Amino acid sequence: MLNLIFLGPPGAGKGTQAHRLAARFNIPQLSTGDILRKAVADGTPLGKQAKGLMDAGKLVPDELVNGIVEEALQDKAAQRGFLLDGFPRTVAQATAFDEMLARLGRRIDFVICLQVPVETLVARLSGRATCPVCQTPYHPLSNPPKRPGICDNDGAALIVRPDDAPDRVRQRLAEFENKTAVLSGYYKARGLLRGVDGVGSPDEVEGRILAVLRDRVTQGPANP
Ligand code: ADP
Ligand code: ADP
Repeated sequence: MLNLIFLGPPGAGKGTQAHRLAARFNIPQLSTGDILRKAVADGTPLGKQAKGLMDAGKLVPDELVNGIVEEALQDKAAQRGFLLDGFPRTVAQATAFDEMLARLGRRIDFVICLQVPVETLVARLSGRATCPVCQTPYHPLSNPPKRPGICDNDGAALIVRPDDAPDRVRQRLAEFENKTAVLSGYYKARGLLRGVDGVGSPDEVEGRILAVLRDRVTQGPANP
């Protein structure tokens, strides 16, 4: 059982690393951004509420995302563990999540905080191409698909997310600073935070995360 949260600004590599670890450990990647984008694409009531805010680079209301996560955690696959990517993003979400976990008798092992300077974030996001079907992120320089513009997993044509436009990226980085950055203090106070240098190749960053997880094996659970 491995229960991890990936924390970090847009473009830090949360989705990339959560995707790798999900395959490695065979536990689900729960990405609130991916779930919301699917709801928007399917035109569900949730998607209709979220679309305008997402396109503008603003956070959607806490109640909506809390509900999504509570439902995803009940899923059979999530009983083996979870890799949360993009949640929680506000203190209200973090406290709601603590209550959810207490109700379910589960706990967080670590909060992996990916640290990347802002100019690198902007460079990564301005080149990001995303699969509209499986949501895998690519980048022509660091993480190219095998065939340009085509997803390796399902052959779909890659798209540029509307919120990866430069003005939306600025808005999202501001939302992160104003509402999400405070969560590193929240989890540090609980002894769960592990800062990981997010600069380097995806393989190098993955290696650093795996080193943190190996510590768990040698030191025992972070939060017994
Ligand atoms: P997040 O989920 O934190 O927003 P992503 O995983 O989608 O971040 O990564 C943002 C962009 O940066 C994507 O285009 C991705 O391919 C690329 N990327 C991810 N990790 C790295 C890395 N270690 N070095 C360079 N580019 C990366
Ligand atoms: P990134 O990490 O690349 O910024 P995500 O895919 O995690 O992007 O999120 C995209 C958008 O989805 C966010 O800008 C926001 O509008 C919405 N979103 C995702 N997760 C949350 C969340 N936990 N709380 C509020 N809004 C969210």
